[in-house]
Amino acid sequence: MRAILLLLAGDFYVQSPNFKSKLLKRSVMIKLYLVILFIEILHPSFGKIKNGYEDRIESSRISLQNLNMYLRGDSGLSSTEKSLLKVKIKVLVDHISYYELTDEFIRQFKIVAPIMFTELDNIKDKKGRNTDVFIRLVPETHSRTPMVAATFFQRMLQDDDASFSSYGPFSVSVDIIIVENALELLSHELGHISYIVPNLAEYSKFYNLKYRNSITDKTMGHSPGDASGRYSHIFERRFIEERKNYFRNGGKKPMSLFPLLVQIKRNTKNPQNDYPLLFALND
Ligand SMILES: [Zn+2]
Repeated sequence: MRAILLLLAGDFYVQSPNFKSKLLKRSVMIKLYLVILFIEILHPSFGKIKNGYEDRIESSRISLQNLNMYLRGDSGLSSTEKSLLKVKIKVLVDHISYYELTDEFIRQFKIVAPIMFTELDNIKDKKGRNTDVFIRLVPETHSRTPMVAATFFQRMLQDDDASFSSYGPFSVSVDIIIVENALELLSHELGHISYIVPNLAEYSKFYNLKYRNSITDKTMGHSPGDASGRYSHIFERRFIEERKNYFRNGGKKPMSLFPLLVQIKRNTKNPQNDYPLLFALND
C-alpha cells in the first residue's frame, strides 16, 4: 500500500503539459492510481458501523420488483412455476425486511447511545486502521450460533493486528437474535469489540489458549481474566447511563422490533411499492 502511495505522489508532481499524448496517458494513469488508491486506502480509513445485509440489498430490491412484475403480468405460468416464483419472492422479502429492520435498529442505537455509537463507529486496530463493524439482526432460525448474540472476528494471517470477518479485511461482525432487549445486547457485543480490535494479536493468543477445546463453551468471552468480557459489562452499564440521559432529555421509547418487523414485511411484500415505505419514526 505504501509503494502505491509513493507512485501516486510522484505522478502528480511530474507532469509534462506540452505533450498531449503524454498528458492523456498520464491522465489515464492517474485515474488508474486513483482507483487503486480508493480500493487500497479508503476502506481501512473509513471503518464504520454498517448494516450486515447491505451487500446485496440493491440487487435484491431490483429482483423483487422484477419477480413481482413477472408474477402479475404473465397468466401463462403453471402453478408449479408460480409456486417457485413465490418462494423466490419470499426469500427476497425476508432479506430486504431484515436489512430494513437492522437499519432501523442501528439508527435506534445511534439515537439512544450516541457517544458509544460514535466511539465504535471510529474504532481502530493497534496500527491505527479503522475497522468496520457489520451488524445483523437475525431470526432465531437463521442464527450461526446457539447464542443470543455473538461477535465474529479472525486475525489475518499476514497481519497479527488486522481483523477480518466474512465481510473482508478490517472488519468484525455481530449477529443478534431479534429479541426485545437487542439494544442492550448490542452494547454488550460492542464492549467485546472495543477491547478485541485494538488488542487483537494479544487477545487471539489468550482466546486460543483459553477456549481451544470449547466451541460451545458458554463462558466464551467471559472466563476469568478475559478483558473483553470485562469491557462488555462496562459497556452494558454505559449504555444504561446513556439511555437514562436520552429519556431525561425527552427521548421517546424506541419502537419494539417485532411490530416493526411486521410493518416492514408488509410494506416490502406489497408489489405496488418500488421500495418499502418509510415506517413511523420514533425519535
Ligand atoms: Zn459476552
